[in-house]
Amino acid sequence: MEWDKDAEQAVAKVPFFVRKRVKKRVETEAQQAGATRVTMTHVTACKQQYLHHQEDEVQGFTVESCFGQSGCPNRIDTGKNLSPHLEALLRTHKLKEFMQSRVPGPLKLHHEFRITLADCPNGCSRPQIVDIGLISASLPTLSDAPCSECGACLAACKEEAITLNAGPGPQFDWQRCLACGQCARACPTGTIAQDLSGYRILLGGKLGRHPRLGQELSGIFSAETTLTIIDTCLTHFKAQNKEGERFGELLNRTGLAFLAPYTLKTT
Ligand code: SF4
Ligand code: SF4
Ligand code: SF4
Repeated sequence: MEWDKDAEQAVAKVPFFVRKRVKKRVETEAQQAGATRVTMTHVTACKQQYLHHQEDEVQGFTVESCFGQSGCPNRIDTGKNLSPHLEALLRTHKLKEFMQSRVPGPLKLHHEFRITLADCPNGCSRPQIVDIGLISASLPTLSDAPCSECGACLAACKEEAITLNAGPGPQFDWQRCLACGQCARACPTGTIAQDLSGYRILLGGKLGRHPRLGQELSGIFSAETTLTIIDTCLTHFKAQNKEGERFGELLNRTGLAFLAPYTLKTT
């Protein structure tokens, strides 16, 4: 749907964590009113609704993702569209009702439990600053195909995680590798292949008065294990939550022993 410039500029000023939702909502309301273009009138009406009836807008959780599925060439295809599974899982935890029982006063959008998925380590959807951030990951491995020493993998790796001079074929520095999958894409001989693909998991990120970057678990997890870990986190969040605190604050108090055998990644 087309937008008037002033309407577009007004929505650009909405805090990023609700911008996508507000934009969709404004478009829906404009469509329902029979408009073919979004104007400032639609934006103002929606703003009033958010300001004065915010609790009605709260659904208890948000699941956001980057624009990878719209054709971003950096996207790592994990073979599964995780978002609907995440939403289904979050719904089973009835987080709106739970937060209503914990938060003194009316619920606000910032009380929602936020999960964000980024389809590569560039992290455009900011997985580091939400309750649970997921980053699609693809680890490289070596196949039997001989290396032509063309150097394409060196050029593709922004982390300088590959060397070519210590033996036949490339060597990887796993401390540097971010599992972005670019070297396997660049390799013309198939010497570098995709090994394990799945998700990196970051826990307890937040902004606000006491910002905290999400802490990363060690490993790359399958979709099924990722959902199990998130389920365990939500159960812990609900069992330990005090007055609607954010997951990161709660983890500062409780630590991660509840997630054993999983441990934090060491840097
Ligand atoms: S996070 Fe990666 S895949 Fe997603 S939009 Fe950004 S660059 Fe593309
Ligand atoms: S997966 Fe990415 S970071 Fe890791 S070695 Fe390949 S290009 Fe470098
Ligand atoms: S891109 Fe492939 S063929 Fe070229 S140097 Fe790297 S591993 Fe060897």
